[in-house]
Amino acid sequence: MSVFRLENVHKRYGNGVQALRGVSLSVESGEMLFLTGPSGAGKTTLLRLIAALERPTSGRIEVQGQDITRIPRRAVPYLRRNLGLVLQDQRLLFDRNVLENVIIALAVTGSRRGEAVERAHAALEKVGLRERATSNPMALSAGEQQRVCVARALVARPSLLLADEPTANVDEANAVRILETFRAFNAVGVAVIVASHDASLVGRYGSRVVRLDAGVIVE
Ligand code: ADP
Repeated sequence: MSVFRLENVHKRYGNGVQALRGVSLSVESGEMLFLTGPSGAGKTTLLRLIAALERPTSGRIEVQGQDITRIPRRAVPYLRRNLGLVLQDQRLLFDRNVLENVIIALAVTGSRRGEAVERAHAALEKVGLRERATSNPMALSAGEQQRVCVARALVARPSLLLADEPTANVDEANAVRILETFRAFNAVGVAVIVASHDASLVGRYGSRVVRLDAGVIVE
């Protein structure tokens, strides 16, 4: 079954920039896909459209069989339940510890507190940060903070993970750790889409690579 499908999607922003020009793409469950291309190619836009953070100007976007360009705004939180997001503009909250930052992602699932704590610990364990649960995120390195973001994205056991330049501001060891975590989730059936211009990582981890340039899939 396809996890999502884009058909002839165009996106023009209010300032007139044509970020995507007729993109068609289908991803099956169990795939790990890398989205590459130069800065400004439209990678972030594509991820934001799939997460229903933006709406396309035209075209069709189906996520898990549902045409998300037609769903009412109030239905969007339900859609996101099956979606893990690691986006560039998402920050950790520095007024609470690492564990609470991960638990936030379980609020929409209606989990009970005890279960939420347990799941958050398990997610932190997966990214190798179990011992940092009670730390303030400010005390963590950039790479560790990004791993907390990964734990937060995966704690609700989404069927689709979208990650936008997840290794951009982290060192090599953290980058490898993050991609190994993605690979482990992918191995148990989570579809993973990573936007990255880091060719060496794409070469090592990408089972399928889609290249965008100026809003068009070129490869
Ligand atoms: P990438 O992630 O590949 O760098 P983006 O999707 O961020 O590409 O950007 C594609 C194009 O759309 C760029 O020209 C960018 O300046 C423009 N763009 C992105 N977001 C917005 C926005 N919110 N408003 C206006 N233009 C935008």
